[in-house]
Amino acid sequence: MASGEASAAQVAQAHLDRIAAVDGEVGAFLHVDPETVLAQARAIDERRAAGEELGPLAGVPIAHKDVFTTTDMPTTAGSKILEGWRPPYDATVTARLRAAGLVILGKTNMDEFAMGSSTENSAYRTTRNPWDLSRIPGGSSGGSSAAVAAFEAPLATGTDTGGSIRQPAAVTGIVGMKPTYGGSSRYGLIAFASSLDTPGPFARNVLDAALLQEAFSGHDPMDSTSVDQPVPAVVEAARRADVAGMTVGVVKEFSGDGYQPGVAARFAETVALLESLGAKVVEVSCPNFTYALPAYYLIAPSECSSNLARFDAMRFGLRVGDDGARSAEEVMALTRAEGFGPEVKRRIMLGTYALSSGYYDAYYGKAQQVRTLITRDFDAAFEQVDVLISPTTPTTAFPIGERADDPMAMYLADLCTIPSNLAGNAAISVPCGLSDDGLPVGLQIMAPALADDRVYRAAAAVEGALEDRWGGPLLAQAPDLAGGAK
Ligand code: GLN
Repeated sequence: MASGEASAAQVAQAHLDRIAAVDGEVGAFLHVDPETVLAQARAIDERRAAGEELGPLAGVPIAHKDVFTTTDMPTTAGSKILEGWRPPYDATVTARLRAAGLVILGKTNMDEFAMGSSTENSAYRTTRNPWDLSRIPGGSSGGSSAAVAAFEAPLATGTDTGGSIRQPAAVTGIVGMKPTYGGSSRYGLIAFASSLDTPGPFARNVLDAALLQEAFSGHDPMDSTSVDQPVPAVVEAARRADVAGMTVGVVKEFSGDGYQPGVAARFAETVALLESLGAKVVEVSCPNFTYALPAYYLIAPSECSSNLARFDAMRFGLRVGDDGARSAEEVMALTRAEGFGPEVKRRIMLGTYALSSGYYDAYYGKAQQVRTLITRDFDAAFEQVDVLISPTTPTTAFPIGERADDPMAMYLADLCTIPSNLAGNAAISVPCGLSDDGLPVGLQIMAPALADDRVYRAAAAVEGALEDRWGGPLLAQAPDLAGGAK
């Protein structure tokens, strides 16, 4: 676009055509309005024609997770309780996408209030994995991962509270990054668990992810937990792409039994690859990581039970049974009973219980102590190593429906990703090959808080070496969708 080869309007139209051709099968989007998309693109073309200096992503289309508020599009967080709601303001991430000149193609499907690992908890539609339409695209940001993997958008936003960017990226063969907590603003992000929620990028390669992260990161006075420091030089790090001299720690607790053989095999090969690229690889024990999942499933539901109290039938979206005769409490109860899905109700009940008087110390308090121990495990590990690695997920994409009635099996998808959320550090998932079932496997690379650049540097090195081996990006091996060639 910068060289005049194509206009932003042409690029936008090509992506709208692709969405029209394949999204019936994939189901990535909840909302696309072609007129709004083309108007954004034309505005960029006019600014470029007027000689304005535009940023590197100006005119690039992006799919936006439906958890960020947008004044010109509905925002549902995948929940029926927000059906029909129009936010009065843009999230900071949304505003920064617009300021960078990105063209927002639409809002993507997600697990209701970002609770889930398969996008099956959406109140609206099923999203399918472009590698195999009978399988899940991961979650909770499954609409975003599917959109990027299906070539409906080159970039997408997500949020990662326990793995919701890295896990969907891993199972769809793309790159997904959870920045340092506080590195990207939560203002206008519909809250699930405020001490964990982190906006981040999805892209088809590491450099694109870095460009997007840079575009929406940085201090925001509207978010009290926003980090007031310069954004790490992630783009420069992604271009540097080298691990020579780095010490890489393999997390012992995440490299034993219980992993799908194809996942374990690709991980082991990637460890060998890192050595061949000049990294020193050592095994590191983080004993408290074993307790991350149970601690998360007390902390996240506790915060959710508080955050979701605002959906009281008075302020947003759905209102059920307001016939003039019922009390406000009755209308609230009816609305919440109908507006929330089963997983959201389960979390609200779990969290309310964990926070209740007499149980608080035994559950929520204990989980917070475990959280501190996990952070200390990271601190000790990062005294010995520059980055830690593990498989992103224990298995590849599972069939739609397989874990829908088994919450424990669903929760296990985030076994390896949750520690970084509890500690607030930076972590990425980058494709590292296909399992025996022909489905993508992700490598997770973790670094200390504020060392996002280190994650990108290592991820870009792995990506470069693997693409040399494969003769191109992993996504080039994805099957064609009925809607046409990639
Ligand atoms: N799958 C995890 C959960 O259900 C993580 C979700 C997320 O990161 N938003 O809570």
